[in-house]
Amino acid sequence: MTATATATVDAAIVGAGFGGMYMLHRLRKLGLNCRVFEAGTGVGGTWYWNRYPGARCDVESMQYSYSFAEDLQQEWSWSELFAGQPEILQYANHVADRLDLRRDMQFETRVTEANFDAETHRWTLRTDNGDVVVAKYCIMATGCLSTARKPDFPGMDLFRGQTYHTGHWPHEGVDLTGMRVAVIGTGSSAIQSIPVIAQAAKHLTVFQRTPNFSIPSRNTAMPAAYEQQWKTTYPEQRAAARASRTGVLRNPNDFSALSVSEEERLAILEDRWQRGGTSFMASFNDLVVNQQANDYAAEFVRNKIRSLVRDPATAELLAPKGHPIGTKRICVDTDYFLTYNRDNVTLVDVAKTPIAAMTETGLKIGDTAYDFDAIVFATGFDAMTGTLTRIDIRGRNGESLKDKWEAGPRTYLGLMTAGFPNMFLITGPGSPSVLSNMIVSIEQHVDWVADCIAHMNDRQLDCIEADRAEEDQWVLHVNEVAFKTLYPSANSWYMGANVPGKPLVFMPYIGGVGSYRQTCNEVAAQGYRGFHLAPPARQAAAAE
Ligand code: FAD
Ligand code: NAP
Repeated sequence: MTATATATVDAAIVGAGFGGMYMLHRLRKLGLNCRVFEAGTGVGGTWYWNRYPGARCDVESMQYSYSFAEDLQQEWSWSELFAGQPEILQYANHVADRLDLRRDMQFETRVTEANFDAETHRWTLRTDNGDVVVAKYCIMATGCLSTARKPDFPGMDLFRGQTYHTGHWPHEGVDLTGMRVAVIGTGSSAIQSIPVIAQAAKHLTVFQRTPNFSIPSRNTAMPAAYEQQWKTTYPEQRAAARASRTGVLRNPNDFSALSVSEEERLAILEDRWQRGGTSFMASFNDLVVNQQANDYAAEFVRNKIRSLVRDPATAELLAPKGHPIGTKRICVDTDYFLTYNRDNVTLVDVAKTPIAAMTETGLKIGDTAYDFDAIVFATGFDAMTGTLTRIDIRGRNGESLKDKWEAGPRTYLGLMTAGFPNMFLITGPGSPSVLSNMIVSIEQHVDWVADCIAHMNDRQLDCIEADRAEEDQWVLHVNEVAFKTLYPSANSWYMGANVPGKPLVFMPYIGGVGSYRQTCNEVAAQGYRGFHLAPPARQAAAAE
């Protein structure tokens, strides 16, 4: 679609990842005229941008896919137990083709401003291409992990070699063969890319500030019988995932780590370790709420690291000790720890002596200079709020979202924020979002929003807005539930701790995907309890 100077649509959707794609599909079915704005040149969001070597899903392929259309889930075949980024991107493109989504999408267009007019109940969006679009609904499907961040070292521009960020990996690929490469960071992106980069590089130096817990994925080619079993039981399995705690089916053990003998505990942890993947965190029902239970699991993984890494000093550096296991997103890897046994890989601890500067030839740590041909930033994202606050969003009375969220995000159910009528957030802060299988959470939000809009259309309503007092209650609840767990004790991006100056607030809702869905459904069934619904502005004025 080509840009026009000004347009009027029923709904403007920002983002063409899995959230924006499904939102468009649902709203079209309601007969709405929509336009999707996407900064990238194609669909897929996360899987469009994060093309770094080794990028892969940590939710099993059979579960990380849309469930809304039976033909779609039957016709698609995943080649591996855990799909790699290229295949997930292929899947996103397949869905876009099948549903003919691109004709309502405008690519290479970043939304820079969104202003609400309380007189007309309409949003006006402006883009970096100069487009102006007026829309009744503004739906932010902008992603929780879509604003990559790099640290601000002195001399950032001096380096004469190549620099990359995992979240903005060049589409043409990068050949690191025979190069001296640095990777900064040891989060999920680094842990996936390091083993692959190590195979190509002449020498790889990893700069680690905080070690992370990682579980082997045990990824394999998709077993045909396993795929078939899923495909024949999809309706039941999808329903179970929607009702579960995380949106991922992983056979959780519903008993405490403290309720079994040490021998039994080790056997269970070993079994989960051998099975691989995030199901390790479902070994017991209290790993993220009981410190002692957590300590057992954490020590188990530390011992695994000690047994995998030959050099004891390196193993000890890689063994996380500063945060409970699972309170930073648990990583899933293929041969991560074994990679440190390679002769061409060095681990540098930058916890006590941080990276001081970038130089023309590399990095400076204290007084030591390291020279590189390429530096890879695996330094994460301004998660959950960063993408939204980079858009100049103004609600009622010109209130800015950035100002409103200065002390942390405030939403009602993670779906809307008071003062910003008709603006919906897909997997916004205050919803299970990043703590879940995100496709399950995306579908739930999109369905709720589409049903809400259908409800409004049926009743000739024009405006919906979250009530501020209800929002306050929800924010309190989100916080209370978080502080019943061990999560807030970690300096994680869930807490905003990775961005200097960002308020320390636990942003996602940890109450569980199933119970959260129930709450959202009840709110809708009770006539959108906690929301104000209004007729068209002119009608409302005439009635006064
Ligand atoms: P995104 O996919 O982030 O899409 C948002 C889109 O909005 C982007 O394309 C962006 O360019 C666009 N956009 C943002 N702002 C603007 C603007 N102002 N104007 C125009 N366009 C804009 N989740 C899981 O459940 N399991 C996993 O294994 C998993 N692995 C992940 C691996 C990586 C490397 C990352 C970064 C995330 C991972 N996630 C995973 C989370 C992942 O983000 C979600 O699963 C899902 O893809 C999010 O879809 P989305 O549509 O909500 O957002
Ligand atoms: P991340 O988890 O935030 O990790 C960033 C890393 O960079 C951390 O190790 C951090 O260290 C380090 N870092 C940042 N600034 C630094 C500095 N100045 N000096 C040294 N080190 C610095 O980011 P990510 O790895 O991109 O992952 C983000 C999220 O995306 C994940 O948690 C996950 O939800 C998702 N993801 C999922 C997968 C998957 O398995 N499917 C893969 C990739 C990403 P500190 O910890 O000390 O801050």
